[in-house]
Formats: sequence, C-alpha cells, structure tokens
Amino acid sequence: MNIAIIGTGYVGLVTGVCLSHIGHNVRCYDIDRNRISMLNNGISPIYEKDLEKLMKQNKKRLIYSTDINTILNDVDIIFLTVDTPSKNDGSADLSHVFDACLLIAQTIKKDSIVVIKSTVPVGTSEMIEKFFKINSKYNIHVVSNPEFLSQGSAVKDTLYASRIVVGCDKSEVTKVIKEMYAPLLKEPYNVPFIEVKRNSAEIVKYACNNFLAVKLSYINEIANFCKKNDADIEEVTNCMKLDSRIGKEYLQAGIGYGGSCLPKDTHALYEMGKFKMVKAAIEVNENQNLILCNQLLKDFNNSTDKLQIAILGLTFKANTDDVRNSPAISNIELLLKKGVIIKVYDPVGIDNFQKHFENNKNITYCKTISESLKYSDAVLILNDWTEIKNISLELFVKKMNSPRIYDGRNCFSLNYVNKFPVYYYSIGRKTINNLN
Ligand code: NAD
Repeated sequence: MNIAIIGTGYVGLVTGVCLSHIGHNVRCYDIDRNRISMLNNGISPIYEKDLEKLMKQNKKRLIYSTDINTILNDVDIIFLTVDTPSKNDGSADLSHVFDACLLIAQTIKKDSIVVIKSTVPVGTSEMIEKFFKINSKYNIHVVSNPEFLSQGSAVKDTLYASRIVVGCDKSEVTKVIKEMYAPLLKEPYNVPFIEVKRNSAEIVKYACNNFLAVKLSYINEIANFCKKNDADIEEVTNCMKLDSRIGKEYLQAGIGYGGSCLPKDTHALYEMGKFKMVKAAIEVNENQNLILCNQLLKDFNNSTDKLQIAILGLTFKANTDDVRNSPAISNIELLLKKGVIIKVYDPVGIDNFQKHFENNKNITYCKTISESLKYSDAVLILNDWTEIKNISLELFVKKMNSPRIYDGRNCFSLNYVNKFPVYYYSIGRKTINNLN
C-alpha cells in the first residue's frame, strides 16, 4: 500500500520505517526542513536502536519530503503523528493536529482514510471527521490507532507490539487497516489486533499511560517510606513482583518519570476527568524529580556557592536522546540558582540538552564520565545507561574531590558500595556514609 506519515518525529519515523519494513511504500512528511534533509542524507534525527539500520535496509520504499503534494499523491492511508504538547492549563494542545488536517483537506484529491496515532483526548477523532466534512469535498474516514511504543525500544515495540488497537466505526475501513497491518499479525510478529469503538481507543492510550504514572509514583512513595523506616525498596519490590496480579514492570523506584508522554498525558487526563489518583501521581512525581537535589542541598546546609557537581545522565531515561521533561532539566535549574558549577555527561543526550541551557557558562559538557567527575564535590546519577551502571566506584574515589554520590536510579548494590570510602544516597535504601 502507499502510506503517508504526517509528522516524522519519534512516533512518525518509527511507524513509517516499520511499515516500509513490512513491504509498504511510505512517504514521510514534516514541516521541519532540517529533519527531512537529515533523513534524505540517511541520518536519523533521533537516537533509537536499529532505526537507522532499517532506514537503510528499506531505502527503496521510503521517501522523505516537505512537499505535501508528493506525499499525498495517490495515497491509501494517511497517518497523523504530529506532537500534541500541553497547553498552559495542562490540556492537550491540538493545534498541530488541526494544522495538519487542514493541509490534508486542502491537498487530497480522493476519498481517504486518516489514522490518528497522536495521543488525543476522547472525542477528537469525531471532531476531526466533522472538520474534514466542512473543509473537504471528499469522504475522509478517521480511525483512532493509539501508539504504545516506548522510546529506547521503539522499533521492537512497533514490530513486536503488545497489541494494535484500532478504533473505527466502519467495518469496511477497519478491514483496510487490518490488511495494512496483516504482516505483523502473523509469524514472526504475532501481534494481537483489537477492534474497539473509536472513543474507547482514544481513552485506552490515556488509561495506560496514567496507570503507569500512578504505578511509578506509588512505588516511589513506598520507596521514600522504606528509607524512613530502615527498610529496603529493592527487597520490597522483589517480593511484590512475584505477585502476578501486580506484575514485574514499572516497579523500579527512582527519581520519578519524565519524557514527552507521561507528564503531558497525566496533565491532559486530569484536565479531562479531574481524576484524584492522577493528581496525586503528578504531585508525588514533581517532588520525586527533585529528591536528590533537595537532599544534596540539605547535606551541604544550603552552602553550595561554587560547589562543583557532576551530573551523569541527561536524557529522561536510558537508550534515548530525548530530553523533553527530563528530571535533569529541573535539577540543573535548581542547582544553578544555588550557585553551583555543573559538569554533565550523557552518551547521546548532550546536543539536545545544550539547546535548553544555551551558552550557560556554569555548565561544562564532558566527553567522558571521568572528565565530569574530576574534582567534583558531589555527583548526581539521573539515568541508568549501561555505561553509567557499569562504572567502577573506584573512579568516583579517584577523580572526585569528595566522593558524595546521589544515585537516582539505584545503579549499585549496597554491598558493593560498602567496599568504598564514599557517601552514597540512593532511593528507598539505607544511606551509606563511609567518608572519614
Ligand atoms: P515529536 O515531537 O517527536 O514529533 C512530532 C513531529 O511532528 C515533529 O517532527 C514536528 O516537526 C512535526 N509536526 C508538527 N506539526 C506538524 C504539521 N502541522 N505538519 C507536519 N508535521 C508537523 O513527537 P512524538 O514523540 O513522535 O509524539 C507524537 C505523538 O505521539 C504525540 O501525540 C505523543 O503523545 C504520541 N506518542 C508518543 C510516544 C513517544 O514515546 N514519543 C509514544 C506514544 C504516543
């Protein structure tokens, strides 16, 4: 089939490349010329495992362009994958969605199917269908097909998806969508294809993301409770994970969630339904994001002027270059206000991070972990890239002025830490102080 992708970001590019991989001809459109030009040079504008490899492998079935006429010419299915950021009040900003819809309405020359993959509030697909009725003389069917990929494993999550959810009120349209996905529904992928009402599909996405946010905030509160009561969160979660009703995932205590989805989708769902649980999850997370920084300021009695702090991990989690709503941003903002000099390291996130703190002379971007640790008075570990988890604590002792480690991802076992002359503060576990 001929497929168009409108909005070639994390979701759009991965969707497009994976659909080309199962045999479709895919044209990817974006208003960001720089992004399209990189793609035309064979470079992925985002860091995602296996993405560039599949782009190369399926090159002959992929077109990237900023010319909407080329993109929509004789197309069978149009995917809408533009971003839906938060408005000031927390609700979803649909302006990019409707900009893209207007462009589609003005360009298409036949009846079409538009598949909404962007995360949108319940009722949006219906609104979009009405919008097309007003703005186009063609029949445009709108399908909701929420996306569940996780950054860092997006290609695998798309090809071997846990489920494809399709919300469509017309069976003949659902049939076309099912035909498009057919290769993924059989060996080796075996993805379940689930047909639901369109409004249900829109709610599924928010219900899932908010459940995960609530789960993370809940376990972080339990972790903080463990720390106050001489218990150990790892022991607690290991026992919880054995209960199949609870499950094994999303029980990793830490500095709370970030990224482009959970923060925005919790606020959007709260705006839609005033869910009390969601509000609590948001509040817990905001405090959790700054838990290390607040402890550090307390430990230094707020005398932090000219202290040198190393930050390991800038992206909102490991295996992505995405820094949107990364806890590193709020932590560094707070530290800078307190007069701290910052030396940061991340394997791939530095370029994106630099855009947030352009030309700030109190931040040094380091090429190695060792460089960022050198002469530092403390270090904050904010994400758990394998490279960070594998550092020997000897390096902290050797390089730092004083090896005070604030670990927001519980990268090291307490038994291991105890072998070194360090101060070690982690989440939901005993603080170790082997200094002096
Ligand atoms: P993104 O910011 O990475 O990509 C969006 C792209 O759309 C950008 O390249 C932007 O230039 C482009 N764009 C904006 N307006 C446009 C327009 N009018 N026409 C054409 N292109 C336009 O966003 P993303 O992370 O890929 O998220 C896209 C949607 O998918 C959001 O609604 C998000 O909530 C949802 N989602 C994201 C993830 C994720 O992990 N990133 C997972 C599931 C769902």
